[in-house]
Amino acid sequence: MNTQKTTITNCEKEPIHIIGRSQAHGVILVCNPISLEITQCTENAEQLFGLSVNHLLGQNLAILISSEKISQITEKLDQGKNLLPDEEVINNSKFLIIPHFSQANLILDFEFAGIDLPSSINQNLLPSILSEIENTKTIPEMCKLAVSQIKNLFEYDRVMMYKFDDEWNGEVIAEIKEIHLESWLGLHYPARDIPKQAREIFLKQGVRIIADVNFITSKLIPEISPISNKPLDISRSELRSVSPIHIEYLQNMGVGASLTAAIILDGELWGLLACHHYSPKFINYHQRQTCKFITQVFSNSLSVKTTKTFLHHMEASEEVRKKLVLQMESISNIKDSLLNFSLKFTDIIECSGGAFYQEGKLKLVGITPQKEDIMDLLRNFIFKKDEEVFYTKNLKAHYVKAKTYTKFASGILSLRLKDAKNSFLLWFRPEISETVTWGGNPEKIGFIKEGVEYLSPRKSFEKWTQQNAGISKQWENYDLQAVAALQESITYIIVKKQRDEILDLNDQLIVANQELQTFNYSISHDLRAPLRGIEGYARILRDHHLEGLDDYSKKAINTIVSSAEDMDRLIEDILSYSSVGKTNLNREILSIDKMIEDILLKQNMAKHFPNTSIILASEFPKIEADRRLISQLLNNLIGNAFKYSSKSLKPLVEIGYIKKEKENVYFVKDNGIGIDPNLNHKIFDVFSRLAGDEYEGSGIGLAIAKKVVDIHQGELWLESNLNKGSTFFFSIPNPVN
Ligand code: ADP
Repeated sequence: MNTQKTTITNCEKEPIHIIGRSQAHGVILVCNPISLEITQCTENAEQLFGLSVNHLLGQNLAILISSEKISQITEKLDQGKNLLPDEEVINNSKFLIIPHFSQANLILDFEFAGIDLPSSINQNLLPSILSEIENTKTIPEMCKLAVSQIKNLFEYDRVMMYKFDDEWNGEVIAEIKEIHLESWLGLHYPARDIPKQAREIFLKQGVRIIADVNFITSKLIPEISPISNKPLDISRSELRSVSPIHIEYLQNMGVGASLTAAIILDGELWGLLACHHYSPKFINYHQRQTCKFITQVFSNSLSVKTTKTFLHHMEASEEVRKKLVLQMESISNIKDSLLNFSLKFTDIIECSGGAFYQEGKLKLVGITPQKEDIMDLLRNFIFKKDEEVFYTKNLKAHYVKAKTYTKFASGILSLRLKDAKNSFLLWFRPEISETVTWGGNPEKIGFIKEGVEYLSPRKSFEKWTQQNAGISKQWENYDLQAVAALQESITYIIVKKQRDEILDLNDQLIVANQELQTFNYSISHDLRAPLRGIEGYARILRDHHLEGLDDYSKKAINTIVSSAEDMDRLIEDILSYSSVGKTNLNREILSIDKMIEDILLKQNMAKHFPNTSIILASEFPKIEADRRLISQLLNNLIGNAFKYSSKSLKPLVEIGYIKKEKENVYFVKDNGIGIDPNLNHKIFDVFSRLAGDEYEGSGIGLAIAKKVVDIHQGELWLESNLNKGSTFFFSIPNPVN
């Protein structure tokens, strides 16, 4: 036995598959599969077979087994058939020869045949054991049953079901033991207790025994395989020795023998069935096969139950989701519907608390970190994430400040809602060790022998607790699916609500708009009559009774006349603005050249703006549009161009067009006062004026122009810079028939 002191940190590096040693209850013998020449053998051959290794090496296998069996073996090997275990008596002991291949080596484990279970077990007991396993309802119930069945069958002092988590930490989830032994149920162990290569071997081999923890190991001679010229991989040998670290671990616990069977789910190690005996104990190959068979049935049933558990979780969260949807549909505010009822969004998955963030406000549910801490986490971490869903069971590893509140939020799942309000839902999970309980006396921790620290179950548990500080239970696939489904529902409801709101608003707008137009029209119309009266009488006063009045009164009467004229123009403009779109579009093919000519004449531009030069394109492309409206549009654009360039040094107005593949673009350009580009979005609003009082106007002309273009589903825009002139462009698409 290797007596060198080892510590737990060496474990991961140990090459246990090429350990090159056997346990004491049999001999590992290696042959050339073609010649059946013995190439390697463990040194205990001398003790068990009465033949020294030196004597055996180079000999034919026939030195150990009958010629009849040799010919059976050769026949099978020639035909490429599998070799099966077979019995042989050597040196007065009955051995079971268990064959397998490793690279090009034929490995034969000569193991003591031992005593078989009574055949009644195989015939009667096994079927009932299997059906009992399959009939259990839950995984914990099945584990409990399996450990007690194995204990009854093989009579180990302690039988445990050990389950791995996603990081290969383990937990004893079921246990049955002799009454005097301390219970390990509920204890957790760090991943390195069963290192990766040991787990790989379990996965390959299924069931392994250590018949006597204090056995003397036997070296394979020679160490290097003469066939493959490498250390021989004996990971599948039944007799393979065990890691000295593992042996020390067992010895420290006072264990005398062990049996371990792999529980495999979806091709991965799910857990181990671990049996301990407090004195040496050997169960033979056939019994181990029985155990392997039971664990296989267990694994199958586990697979069925895991799927059921998944579905069960999905169903439960689906129930909650449906109820939440009803809540969301019944009240208008999504936030309230997720928080203010007895059923909350946190009920959809397992968590200790949650938070809802929307537009700078945070609402908390259940057990959570402080508000300020969550705000800080959101601002400095969650908001910066690109993904909609983020989850971790170890938040502090991503965000250091989370160290201070691992008790409440070691794990976090965050979900960004698609509601344009930057809303987030958060679910929290506390530190898992907070929720772990363990049996027995936690003070009895660890072994220290000659200054070296050794693991014991309790020491391991302590290590596990340290390692898992600040780590929560992991988020399962079904948690993520439930949250994704909730997000979809929320998005659907938000979109639906938004659509309903928009439709509602639209209806209201249509009504309001109609009312406004009628109101506008009647006001403008009704105002005109008294205005006419005022204007008429003021004119009579001005034209016939001005003489004899003092200057102040003369000025007052002139102001009344001009104000009344201004007001009349304003009412005229308001009237024409509100009348745009009142009647149906009356489209016809229009000659723009003619229209422009009329406008220039009617507005008497030559007289009013004698200094202004004008450049006119010839043969404007025609437009199919409403004559009256297009005329209003051009009137306003051309009028403005003359007006706002009149004070330039050499006023210039250009009216032209740009030919385009789809619809042509018409423009009216001037070199006048221009418009500040930062304000140019405002000028299309009613009554919006940027120019000073030296330019007459009501601020309605461009609003009319915009309305005309909109009604024709066209576009109106401008390019302008202050003091550099403006160009107004418009395009009117051809009507779709
Ligand atoms: P207004 O009766 O004041 O001309 P409009 O609705 O036609 O009203 O125009 C709104 C405002 O846009 C004007 O008051 C003026 O400030 C600006 N504007 C319109 N056309 C021009 C232009 N060609 N050059 C400079 N400013 C203009």
